Amino acid sequence: MVENCIFCKINARKIPAAVVAENDQVFVIKDINPKAPLHYLIIPKKHVVDMQSLQADELPLIAEMSAMAQQLSKTDAAHHDFRIVINNGHAAGQRVFHLHMHYLAGNILPE
Ligand code: 5GP
Ligand code: ZN
Repeated sequence: MVENCIFCKINARKIPAAVVAENDQVFVIKDINPKAPLHYLIIPKKHVVDMQSLQADELPLIAEMSAMAQQLSKTDAAHHDFRIVINNGHAAGQRVFHLHMHYLAGNILPE
């Protein structure tokens, strides 16, 4: 748990969020400012700043996050197709510096 990290605080239930799925490695919340009809954030419980700073022994977290995306797509047949986005670094749009995948689904995704 890293102080002043919003996703660590949500994981510790110190601030509320709509948690839609969880296992021992990752949790999923609804994005507070959705950019698609379905906009989830898939977040590792371990605090990792971004993709760049992932250590070799932390790479399996990406697989865990991917497996969670597969699971999410199975729970709603209407939203089978999805887009994964990872913003890495401020210039790429990252604003929360605890690694996360955006899971976007629905019928208004621009090409
Ligand atoms: P980033 O820009 O870092 O890739 O994405 C951060 C995302 O976290 C944004 O889409 C933003 O809407 C979302 N977000 C920021 N603060 C909160 C919060 O307190 N709760 C939830 N559920 N989402 C948040
Ligand atoms: Zn954190």
